[in-house]
Amino acid sequence: MTTANLIATIDLDAIAHNVGVLRERSGAGVIAVVKADGYGHGALPVARAALAAGAQALGTASIREARELRAGGIDAHITAWLHRPDSDFAGAVADGIDIAVSSPRQLAAVVDAARATGTRAVVSVKVDTGLGRSGVAREEWEQAASDLARAVADGAVELHGVMCHLAFGDEPDHPHNDLQAQRLDAAVTDLTRLGAPPAVVHMSNSPAALTRPDLSRDLVRPGIAMYGYSPIPAMGDFGLIPAMTLESQVTTVKRADAGQGVSYNHTWHAAADTVIGVVPAGYADGVPRSLSGRLQVHIGDRLYPNVGRICMDQLVVDLGPDGGGVREGDRAVLFGPASAADGARVPTATDWADELGTIDYEIVSRIGSRPERRYT
Ligand code: PLP
Repeated sequence: MTTANLIATIDLDAIAHNVGVLRERSGAGVIAVVKADGYGHGALPVARAALAAGAQALGTASIREARELRAGGIDAHITAWLHRPDSDFAGAVADGIDIAVSSPRQLAAVVDAARATGTRAVVSVKVDTGLGRSGVAREEWEQAASDLARAVADGAVELHGVMCHLAFGDEPDHPHNDLQAQRLDAAVTDLTRLGAPPAVVHMSNSPAALTRPDLSRDLVRPGIAMYGYSPIPAMGDFGLIPAMTLESQVTTVKRADAGQGVSYNHTWHAAADTVIGVVPAGYADGVPRSLSGRLQVHIGDRLYPNVGRICMDQLVVDLGPDGGGVREGDRAVLFGPASAADGARVPTATDWADELGTIDYEIVSRIGSRPERRYT
């Protein structure tokens, strides 16, 4: 029984399996990336499953995401790496969150928070080694490194990690990966020379963790692969298992006469007498409206095309003139791991992404809080 219309079932054994694949292929420890509510899978249950499967630490973007994990009872190491100038550094220090700083100003704010609360801050430093996004800029590196060494010497800060993020992780042979690695190693050398060697170094995201073990330093920082999606589909699935199945039930089955229009603005009309089914899943649940008329729903062992506009809460499928034997209450799967069973293949989040010209990261992380999460 459920009060929600759409259910995202998360297979935590798949998460554990994927962590194992990542540990083995990277030859390094795993920081499980659980930002954006665990890429839509639920940060807390995923974090627990990943840690139980041998992940060493967790990674989030915001301090808020990190503190929510602490509030949920997680006492593992958590690194949060993206902050506004007015982020709650004092709260992060109080919760023992590892704050990855991206500028001398962020470091100064963290040092202030540490002094104000009388607690040594755990800090990592994120270096912009060539992604061109967050991370200490090259022109600020000397300043950041010396400020960091001073804060460590003063006892205000414990330096935990040195990290960067790759621009071309999904192009394993791209020379920029090696350039970024060289620059990261140089940053570690600088800090060590200044008397502030980090405890850990990490740069690899999912694709690098799976394909470039030579870039693994102490740890790797995978997100999407832990959720079961291949970060380089052209190279296969790496033995990963998608963890999420998004499913509902057919709520209504009814006739549509030839010529009848369906859903807002009647963008589709039945060409002949047919039977339509209503599935209570819409764009407020993370089913993109731009997939209208391009989505297939798996019911029984067949695929039925969505017809007419996808609405906020519901969409319509054409069940064909004989209704395909579909009955109200039948399970309707929007996406999941592609089934090996007989019958039509279940669509995947990657299929949706391909159809929309985006990446599966965006599909799963946009499944908001409205669908119920169930964990198996
Ligand atoms: N590290 C950082 C800093 C990130 O921003 C992300 C996600 O974008 C990751 C690691 C995980 O990346 P992926 O999901 O490609 O493994």
